Amino acid sequence: MNILIIGSGGREHAFAWKLQQSTLCGQLFIAPGNAGTSEHGTNVNIGVNDFEAQKQFCLDNNIALVVVGPEEPLVKGIYDFFKKDPALQHIKVFGPSAEGAQLEGSKAFSKKFMQRHNVPTAAYAEFTADNLEEGKAYLKQHSLPVVLKADGLAAGKGVVIATTHEEALATFDEMIVHKQFGEASAKVVVEEFLQGIEVSVFVVTDGADYKIIGHAKDYKRIGEGDTGLNTGGMGCVSPVPFMDAAFMQKVEERIIKPTVQGLHKENIDYTGFIFFGLMNTNGEPFVIEYNSRMGDPETEVVLPRLKNDLVELLLAAHNHTLHNINIEADARSCSTVVAVSGGYPGDYEKGKLIVIANDKLPANTIIFHAGTKQTAEGVVTNGGRVLAVSSYSDSIVQAANQSRKALEQVQFEGMFFRRDIGYEFE
Ligand code: ATP
Repeated sequence: MNILIIGSGGREHAFAWKLQQSTLCGQLFIAPGNAGTSEHGTNVNIGVNDFEAQKQFCLDNNIALVVVGPEEPLVKGIYDFFKKDPALQHIKVFGPSAEGAQLEGSKAFSKKFMQRHNVPTAAYAEFTADNLEEGKAYLKQHSLPVVLKADGLAAGKGVVIATTHEEALATFDEMIVHKQFGEASAKVVVEEFLQGIEVSVFVVTDGADYKIIGHAKDYKRIGEGDTGLNTGGMGCVSPVPFMDAAFMQKVEERIIKPTVQGLHKENIDYTGFIFFGLMNTNGEPFVIEYNSRMGDPETEVVLPRLKNDLVELLLAAHNHTLHNINIEADARSCSTVVAVSGGYPGDYEKGKLIVIANDKLPANTIIFHAGTKQTAEGVVTNGGRVLAVSSYSDSIVQAANQSRKALEQVQFEGMFFRRDIGYEFE
């Protein structure tokens, strides 16, 4: 069957790499893709939110399955757009409905959902301009640090962990009164701070049944030793040593099952991935956030370890036959190290030529492209996060070392990557 992937990051390159390995995969297209995705299929110059152009492309190219990478088209209703059009009934969109994507698109929605279904999460309250004074009074008596979250999507910038009441009140004002993130911060969730280690778990669901496809720990800060500004992700490891069977059982019983049952009870149309962003607080899991799609760079370690045929798995979710699937993981560890443009996550330049000594790359290493573009001169940088280099080995530290070695064979002006991914597991 012909497949269209929506997106252009490292996650979508990993999707292309994995989907193309399936005997069920016919022609593969990626809209808009990057220089790496074109090694596995054909890039198409269509934006992720241009549903009309995607529709026409699907009809012209006999697409049977659309795999949606990023959250924005999901929150904007790509699933519903295809579902309501009589001409598109034969096309399966892998991704939740707009209502389901609210698990990620609205923090207030997801907190209320967790409350309704007894999913462990931080205590919270929500405020708008209508109860501003009540919100300020609430903040003044709140323990510190306190977490403030813009309700809607804010490109990963809508969360502030305030360490003083002054900072909390100023942030609250900035978000609600000064509309720092426009409508996305018209409502603010104020949340208790959870101490612990952040990890994530990934599930494929049909809105009634589910399969856990992997877990990971990512490294968000730009600097070594987890210092400096937050980024989209500088690296990732899987499996995580402390996410043992006992911890995963708690995650499954207390978090995954009630979440999927909650979707089912509320008749929310959801065929897609759920990314559970968790805090491990002394061995007890709490939900920090839901995402309605796979993570980036988590996909670049989860899919290399997944032995199953990904097309078969996604179709099983659509056909409500997930119970027939037995998830198998590669016994090896996988780590990915992300190479970024100089200056990222602040200002950076694009268009730097990328040179890779392919013949010197270690075995068992995959270079996933993120912000790259093919030009007449060669492949150039086209974003902050440029490449995610994933490696398999016997331990996550060895795998990360191998990714580092591979990155020594990659060059572009201003290139930076962390040399300590997986450091705490040494
Ligand atoms: P991203 O796009 O980076 O996933 P987001 O904008 O969707 O982020 P969250 O994931 O909810 O927002 O929060 C961002 C980060 O803030 C988390 O990864 C976590 O490090 C921290 N954080 C959020 N909520 C809490 C909390 N209750 N206690 C401690 N830290 C928190």
